[in-house]
Amino acid sequence: MRLSRIRLAGFKSFVDPVTVHLRSNLVGILGPNGCGKSNVIDAVRWVMGESAASRLRGEAMSDVIFSGSATRKPVGQASVELVFDNAEGRLGGAWASYAEISVRRLVNRDGTSQYFLNGTRCRRRDVTELFLGTGLGPRSYAIVEQGMISRVIDARPEELRAFLEEAAGISKYKERRRETETRIRHTRENLDRLADVREELERRLQVLARQARAAEQYRALRAGERELKTGLLALRWQALAAATAALEADGARLETALE
Ligand code: ATP
Ligand code: MG
Repeated sequence: MRLSRIRLAGFKSFVDPVTVHLRSNLVGILGPNGCGKSNVIDAVRWVMGESAASRLRGEAMSDVIFSGSATRKPVGQASVELVFDNAEGRLGGAWASYAEISVRRLVNRDGTSQYFLNGTRCRRRDVTELFLGTGLGPRSYAIVEQGMISRVIDARPEELRAFLEEAAGISKYKERRRETETRIRHTRENLDRLADVREELERRLQVLARQARAAEQYRALRAGERELKTGLLALRWQALAAATAALEADGARLETALE
């Protein structure tokens, strides 16, 4: 994977869109002090996801946007696109089949960044993942800047380890492990929450079971009451029917006597 073009627009001193062609493996940028040579490499690190403004020699992320000069007004956004030649197919995964990979980052005055891979909007993570283990990246050893050699020489063992791990291609797996561990932690937390919910529901179930038992008892008692009431009415009816028959017999007897 070889960087073949850098397209800058509105980034630091590059207010007008300009394309830097890197036609061979050895390219030099010459110019007087302050003409923007270091801004080019800042642009490269910025696209690859650098999130610390201080490492881009600024205070806020929006400092990378052209802030105006004596003759030009400031602009509203900065965009840098890196075009990589993947003709040798070094890049694996989903990108293996592309001969050219374009990575673009755009930032507005409010400081929000947007990333694009081959023109499609993506997350910052997709971009950093693309470069993990390739030796390239916003803070990788492949970018050697002013003062960097002395930083490597003076590096504490942990810092040196980061360089070596990136060179050995381990950083990719370390990053994945970190993500997986985070996911496991989140899942554990979710499980704890579920246990809480379950406990709460179990308590409610107990209350509901008690209420259901009471309702059942009520229904059984109501049925018994109705049965007894029916029996009582039948008995009363029988008694009244007997009394009516006796009175009717009495009536008939009296009528006969009268006649
Ligand atoms: P040296 O040879 O001293 O290392 P250089 O060529 O590396 O210089 P850079 O540091 O890349 O120069 O560029 C510095 C220039 O970029 C300065 O003139 C500065 O005004 C300009 N610059 C940086 N950020 C911005 C910005 N946000 N807007 C406009 N100009 C900017
Ligand atoms: Mg410089």
